[in-house]
Amino acid sequence: MASPRILIIGGGFAGVKCARKLRQALPQTQFEIVLFNQENHMVFHPLLAGVAGGTLQPKDVSAPLRQMLKGVWCRTECVLSIDLDSKCIEYEAYDETRRKMSFDYLVIAAGNKVDLSAIPGMNDHAFSFKTVGDALALQAHIMEQMEKAEVCDDPAQKKWHLSFVIVGAGFSGVEVAGEINDLVRRSRKFFSHIEEEDISVTIVHSRDQILPELDASLRAFAQDRMSKAGVRILLNAMASRATPLGITLKDKRYVHGATIVCTIGTSPLAMIQKLNVKKERGRICTNPDMSVPGYANVWAIGDCAAVINALDGKICPTVAQFAERQAKQVAENIIANLENKPTKPFHYKMMGSMCAIGGYDAVADIMGVRLSGFIAWFIWRGVYLMKLPSVFQIVKVGLEWGCDLIFPRTLAHLKADRSKRIWRAFYSAGDAVIEEGDAGTEFYVIERGEAEVGRKKINGEGEDLIAVLGPGDFFGEGALLDNRPRSATVRARTDLEVTVMGSNVFTQISSALSPLKDAVVKAINRRTNIWKSLHEVREVLELVPLKALIQPLPESPLSANYHVVDAIHKLNVSRLDFLPVTDDDGRLIGMITRSDLLRSIEVAAALPEGAEMNITAKDIMVQNPIAITVSDTAALAIMTMREHGFKVVPVVEDLETRRIVGYVRIENVMDHIAQKLLVREKTSTGEVRVTKEMPKLKIEI
Ligand SMILES: Cc1cc2nc3c(=O)[nH]c(=O)nc-3n(C[C@H](O)[C@H](O)[C@H](O)COP(=O)(O)OP(=O)(O)OC[C@H]3O[C@@H](n4cnc5c(N)ncnc54)[C@H](O)[C@@H]3O)c2cc1C
Repeated sequence: MASPRILIIGGGFAGVKCARKLRQALPQTQFEIVLFNQENHMVFHPLLAGVAGGTLQPKDVSAPLRQMLKGVWCRTECVLSIDLDSKCIEYEAYDETRRKMSFDYLVIAAGNKVDLSAIPGMNDHAFSFKTVGDALALQAHIMEQMEKAEVCDDPAQKKWHLSFVIVGAGFSGVEVAGEINDLVRRSRKFFSHIEEEDISVTIVHSRDQILPELDASLRAFAQDRMSKAGVRILLNAMASRATPLGITLKDKRYVHGATIVCTIGTSPLAMIQKLNVKKERGRICTNPDMSVPGYANVWAIGDCAAVINALDGKICPTVAQFAERQAKQVAENIIANLENKPTKPFHYKMMGSMCAIGGYDAVADIMGVRLSGFIAWFIWRGVYLMKLPSVFQIVKVGLEWGCDLIFPRTLAHLKADRSKRIWRAFYSAGDAVIEEGDAGTEFYVIERGEAEVGRKKINGEGEDLIAVLGPGDFFGEGALLDNRPRSATVRARTDLEVTVMGSNVFTQISSALSPLKDAVVKAINRRTNIWKSLHEVREVLELVPLKALIQPLPESPLSANYHVVDAIHKLNVSRLDFLPVTDDDGRLIGMITRSDLLRSIEVAAALPEGAEMNITAKDIMVQNPIAITVSDTAALAIMTMREHGFKVVPVVEDLETRRIVGYVRIENVMDHIAQKLLVREKTSTGEVRVTKEMPKLKIEI
């Protein structure tokens, strides 16, 4: 008979400690212990900032699981789901197939995941800080910024390259800010064109104090030392969005910087979210002994579990110390369970906290003894050194750390080739995405929001807006294909999310994918010819106030829940070109044109047999359609219609409220142009003669 299997998901602080304790207590011949972890090593998160700062090597903060866990079957595979009822897990196997494994005992110790999505743009522009890869990428980026600053001849741009913004002043935020500050300021002596005052390192923290977990005297020490070392600390400052240029705070202040590190924001793993058990803020609620209610032999510990500490009746904090203690106790409880003995509730008094603050300084509270400065730093490093899996590693890493105290850190960085990448970017309303005249190395596709395209006027004074672009539209192709500077500026008109492709990716995809190739060729023709054929029309349109062209809506807009059958009838009877859809505040959220009606057939076909045909406007409408505002020009209206092949374009009060006020039709605009540009004269024979040349007015709609 096969021996019972204890399956542990997660090889972090909790999973490793639990596996070790169980293996020590249970004979290998009688119990199989299997540990699944995404990586083949455990990460010492508290030391990660040292990798970003170049004082530690990646191997110093990652301990190979199989060297630490002899007698445990370590599997470097990702668990996809857990079936508590059937007592099995599903995982992605080494050959990329989905496989199942059953268990007799299960310990869920999978931690949580970084999730920066609560702040718009943070996912796209900030470095997260959880894995060794995150720390390495950050270090390479910091060195890249220093190299750029060294040769940058624009003083403002140089300062931007040397500005570092860290969001969050918990342990990880403070540690990473201290390391970055040290790295940049100490490396300065090797850069002859960087001055001390060019550098800024800023911590942005939403509360009124940093390191809220620590005693006030240690907090004050940390704040004072860091400020003296040149770290600016912004308290009561909430980051509200991140862009390629920096971050915006809730109070509208802007903190510029080429490097943003976000140390706040986690969410439960998908595998945990899918579990049908009681949760507290996404963490699995456990019984006092850390077993999962309703399931015999299933336990949850560490950051993914909401374990009540019997000491104070509160949910344990998500820190390594608690994860390890829970692991030790859960192992004891599993053994007690096997021996039919009673289990114990989790009860733990915290030993204290330690945090490095840069400059070989730390603050530490160890069982009520408060230490600060170098001695605290030394103890802090020593504690983690002792956690390494073997004496050999302890000696090796200890020697390396000793050398680092004497010798300068390495300034080498591995450069990633951006032209081979594809990524996403976020811009706040008003931000320039590309600037006319700049070199073009990227291609952009809009995912959400609107952008406006502008071009310098021929006389060099100001800018003409030439089109509004929306979701699905792209830009940046001309400069890439023709290897010339950007011919226009594209600015975010609302908050804007784009997918960005480096030149190599763009060339590869557009040459292989013919619909994209065709769309790009058409766009280049359309966007190039516009300057040749339309400038006289533009002159006329500049004089026509848009207000004169706006037609009021003949009917009130639809609500999103309006039944599609009524919408079809409305379009047919009223002979309207489109039906706007608004929300309860009158905000334009959608638009239905005749061609969208066909979509109702697709939606109906997808419904199951006998289902109620409750298809509404929101099921078939184009969401957040492109709109122009009453303060835009008639020229922008017609160019936007030309760009998209529209025959009508809705007009809203402003981009903030998006309250619809009417629409502009192509024939109305054309009539104006014709009236202004064409002179009709009757000849002596009574025929009508048009004296302006028609080709000038040829507009492809
Ligand atoms: C930068 C940073 C600094 C920190 N500093 C401190 C500090 O100074 N002091 C302190 O006490 N705490 C600190 N913490 C918090 C501490 O690291 C966590 O509380 C601790 O790691 C939690 O341990 P855990 O085992 O529950 O989760 P983790 O250590 O996150 O381990 C979970 C493991 O599960 C694996 N996993 C996840 N999903 C799957 C899956 N589907 N399949 C297989 N494997 C999976 C992951 O790869 C990971 O190895 C810090 C955290 C960070 C990010």
